[in-house]
Amino acid sequence: MEKKRVGIVGAGISGLVACKTALEKGFLPTVFEAEANIGGVWARTLDSTKLQSPRPIYEFADFPWPASVTEAAPDHRQVMDYLQSYARHFDLLRHVEFEARVVGVEYVGAKEEEIMAWELWAGNGEAFGGGRGEWHVAVQKGEDGSTEIYQVDFLILCIGRFSGTPNIPTFPANKGPEVFDGKVIHSRDYSNMGSARATELIRGKRVTVVGFLKSALDIAAECANANVMPEKFYDRVEEGSIVLKPSKSFSFCKNGVIIEGEAAPIETDILIFATGFKGDQKLRDIFRECIHPRIPQLAVLGYSESFTNLHTSEMRSKWLFHFLDGGFQPPSIREMEKNVVEWEKYMKRYSGEHYRRSSIGTLHIWYNDQLCRDMGCNPRRKKGFLADMFLPYGPTDYTNLHPTN
Ligand SMILES: Cc1cc2nc3c(=O)[nH]c(=O)nc-3n(C[C@H](O)[C@H](O)[C@H](O)COP(=O)(O)OP(=O)(O)OC[C@H]3O[C@@H](n4cnc5c(N)ncnc54)[C@H](O)[C@@H]3O)c2cc1C
Repeated sequence: MEKKRVGIVGAGISGLVACKTALEKGFLPTVFEAEANIGGVWARTLDSTKLQSPRPIYEFADFPWPASVTEAAPDHRQVMDYLQSYARHFDLLRHVEFEARVVGVEYVGAKEEEIMAWELWAGNGEAFGGGRGEWHVAVQKGEDGSTEIYQVDFLILCIGRFSGTPNIPTFPANKGPEVFDGKVIHSRDYSNMGSARATELIRGKRVTVVGFLKSALDIAAECANANVMPEKFYDRVEEGSIVLKPSKSFSFCKNGVIIEGEAAPIETDILIFATGFKGDQKLRDIFRECIHPRIPQLAVLGYSESFTNLHTSEMRSKWLFHFLDGGFQPPSIREMEKNVVEWEKYMKRYSGEHYRRSSIGTLHIWYNDQLCRDMGCNPRRKKGFLADMFLPYGPTDYTNLHPTN
């Protein structure tokens, strides 16, 4: 049988995992990567970035970390080395087109009215539909920016959540960055500068960092490092080189920012928005966080977030390629749409005020249960009833998952 062409957009962890699974299942993958290297977020991050998930759970199921890495939280260089060894080990690099930015995709096959009338995914419930449709992928390459069209039978978007549109708050007139004499940037600009230029930018400066998640803390620590060389984040807080100001809102003034409830401004030379990206809004209504009920021959990997995104992408890749391999059919389009709404309801119920569409952290075991059932595997992964009831579930419980359908 002729091998099916699978286009994969992005060579971060999700794209690499997809490429490896595609090869294992006998497909012909081509990975389009906009940058000159693999690794995605790990290739372009703050100098101080380390893994937040404990290393043992941020590990490929069939490719352990090398024995030389003993740290619980390896730094981004170690993560990159690990990803590069993974890509070399599974011979993935020759399937990656570097500096190849996908600038447009078009489904060529059934017309929109026909698609809207379908009851089953891609018309017949199969991954490749009736064989009539394909995706035309416009890829911009090289210095002259010329565009080439690739034709693929299935397209997988692995473009990540932490890129694209920065999430920058809006301000009333005369209270935003336009009235501020200093510099305003987003954490993405700071990361993209590279370590030397970033250090140069902040050295000797008064920096305000907006946000209190990983990037914000890392940037604050880097600012303190560049200026006074202390060791630890909270030690720096204690000694006053990092000042924490909880505040629901703030506005700009000429020489800094004024936070809610305070009269005096915080004098600032540079303000860095470490407020993340609007990745959550990139997509909606995707079944099993992977396929859209009404978009044929296309899937997404790496959209959902959990306590270990590597495992989440691996599980979905396994599910997706089992589907591409003819292992199962998804339910009807109507059932999928109902299911998406149900999951959204559960997520809102269990995540409460922390609800974000893409974050499956609180429900990830239930999600894995669904994926296992689709693949004909027992979702009870532990040996024995008591272990299943009382021991926590982690990625290693799915290491020997072999789809049986
Ligand atoms: C600072 C930081 C720390 C993190 N720490 C953790 C952690 O400890 N634990 C955890 O579980 N997760 C962590 N994450 C989340 C992390 O994003 C995932 O773990 C994982 O690396 C995501 O991989 P990905 O392949 O899905 O996306 P990405 O790594 O974002 O890769 C997407 C790739 O797609 C490419 N691309 C995008 N658009 C196009 C296009 N149009 N054409 C061609 N190529 C394109 C990009 O260049 C990129 O290489 C962290 C994220 C950040 C930013």
